[in-house]
Amino acid sequence: MFPKDALDNWFSGQGHWAHVDPSDWNDWKWQLKHRLTSLEDLEQYLELDPEERAGCMFANKKLALAITPYFFNLINPDDPHDPIRRQVVPRAGETQTAPEERLDPVGEENSKPVDGIIHRYPDRVLFLVTDRCAAYCRYCTRSRLVSNAQDYNFHPEFETGLQYIREHPEIRDVLLSGGDPLLLSDNKLNHLLRELRAIPHVEFIRIGSRIPVFLPQRITPELCEILKEHGPIWMSIHVNHPSECTLALREACDRLAFAGVPLGNQSVLLKGVNNDPDTLQSLIHRLLMMRVRPYYLYQCDLITGSAHLRTDPREGIDLIRSLRGHTTGYAIPQFVIDAPGGGGKIPLTPDYVEKITDDELILRNFQGDTYRYPLKVGVPAPEHPKVPLPRPILT
Ligand SMILES: *Cc1c(COP(=O)(O)O)cnc(C)c1O
Repeated sequence: MFPKDALDNWFSGQGHWAHVDPSDWNDWKWQLKHRLTSLEDLEQYLELDPEERAGCMFANKKLALAITPYFFNLINPDDPHDPIRRQVVPRAGETQTAPEERLDPVGEENSKPVDGIIHRYPDRVLFLVTDRCAAYCRYCTRSRLVSNAQDYNFHPEFETGLQYIREHPEIRDVLLSGGDPLLLSDNKLNHLLRELRAIPHVEFIRIGSRIPVFLPQRITPELCEILKEHGPIWMSIHVNHPSECTLALREACDRLAFAGVPLGNQSVLLKGVNNDPDTLQSLIHRLLMMRVRPYYLYQCDLITGSAHLRTDPREGIDLIRSLRGHTTGYAIPQFVIDAPGGGGKIPLTPDYVEKITDDELILRNFQGDTYRYPLKVGVPAPEHPKVPLPRPILT
């Protein structure tokens, strides 16, 4: 078990930046200005291995290197395999492209009616409103455009996207993404949310953001007022490891929740970060403690240069099996693969249906025991002895 679930053990403080005035530290613009963005910046605090050095040299051609001081503090400098480090410090593996990997792994470019809008599902769209993030995840599925290291030159035109949504009455759900929408100024966000709210057929608005995790200082009372005014605005945050659940994140989630923002979490299953049952369980327990409902657990997309972070999808299914029945139902995310090429998200669920006959469903519970549910109406069910099966074994 990840050892630190009690709230008084959650990380807080300024770590390497203890000398900085707290009013600066708590200012999101100070955090952005002082991001670590180069090999030299990282080497002030970490001893990099040759793999990491190579990754850093290559980063500005693939996906910019940037880590907020706040998030950098969560790296344990004495652990070369630190799970936070693996998410944000580039590695040489990024320079290699496996044959199955793609620049646009989930086929978004084929579902793009206008710039900034991905319209894959009939009733909802992804609205990309910026190409910038507070920090960059090395497995970013949109690394072709995010941070503009690959010269994609994405220039979001809000009006084009808004007009598309206005003209398509079938769109009832708009998901703001990017890049990170919460990097927009309060004014821009306010404008965008007001315009979306004014569209009669838009019922549901949500924001996908890792800002609460990378830059909780951005979740200011003023921002929360805007979210409240145009609410309900739902938000999916992106936490992958329990040590990202700090007191600062918890307080940011409190501010969002008290502003009426329902919170969900999307994690990516990553090798050496969260692909073991204890870490995953600790993560989802901490999320519940912060009022965040685990929503999706993603199989890592086949993005170029991500082989060193990807797991076998069967491992994800086994991990979900290790949770179901063993912990709070609310804590269990849906494991999904975003289908290569553009089929959308497809759920992968452990199989609890052993067999279906004309007479009954033969089911297996979380302990591996079988149970029968009769399908014939009005026929007394025969008594069936419980047949214990071996417990599922985690690979
Ligand atoms: C993930 C995604 C959505 C939202 O899907 P939900 O299952 O409703 O969360 C919408 N559009 C695109 C293109 C997506 O990738």
